[in-house]
Amino acid sequence: MPNIILLGAPGAGKGTQSKNLIAQYGIPQISTGDILRANVRNKTELGVKAKDFMDKGALVPNELVVEMVAGRLEDEDCNKGFILDGFPRNIAQADELKVTLDKLGKDIDATIGIEVDKKELVRRLSGRRVCRGCGEAFHVIFNPPVNIDVCDSCGGELYQRDDDKEETIEKRLEVYDEETHPLIEYYKDKGLYRAVAGIGSVDSITEAIVKALG
Ligand code: AMP
Repeated sequence: MPNIILLGAPGAGKGTQSKNLIAQYGIPQISTGDILRANVRNKTELGVKAKDFMDKGALVPNELVVEMVAGRLEDEDCNKGFILDGFPRNIAQADELKVTLDKLGKDIDATIGIEVDKKELVRRLSGRRVCRGCGEAFHVIFNPPVNIDVCDSCGGELYQRDDDKEETIEKRLEVYDEETHPLIEYYKDKGLYRAVAGIGSVDSITEAIVKALG
């Protein structure tokens, strides 16, 4: 089973595609954003340190995130493969990931880049609503829940992430361009990069990803 990195700007659909890939391959998703948000919610030491960076749309310092991912990759369930969603976010994190995987005797099989243009990203992020209970994402126009503010899957409350507010979206997209986008070249150089167009139905994009993974 594959060890995959899902790369793409905020709003490209990494989380949504991860859910389908979990079903397809039976491997866990490691979403650094989800793990950090859970830490903020539970007011852990890590959460307290990370919160201000996240609220501003900035990256959380590398050392905090790298350690968190390294610990998670050691878990038994990652032996059958894993989907990294939202990590690495810059070159330094990618280098650290390589060191961690070397120690574990593992490798990345492919980095899938989900490509979506900026106008569409802003449209998706500004209308996104997320369930406090199960984390499922909806969109007020493109994928509305049956009952406003209620999750179709678990009945939990839907909310707008603070960093999905308009001023923070701009900042996150800037951070992506400056820090994360260079990872495309980084993984191309290693022969690991596969681009997938992130426009179309969720299932058709999953199909394209599965095809790209060969
Ligand atoms: P996401 O849910 O992936 O959009 O992440 C939400 C926020 O969590 C980001 O804007 C960052 O503040 C933080 N974050 C998530 N992943 C990372 C990472 N790999 N490195 C640094 N910060 C991260």
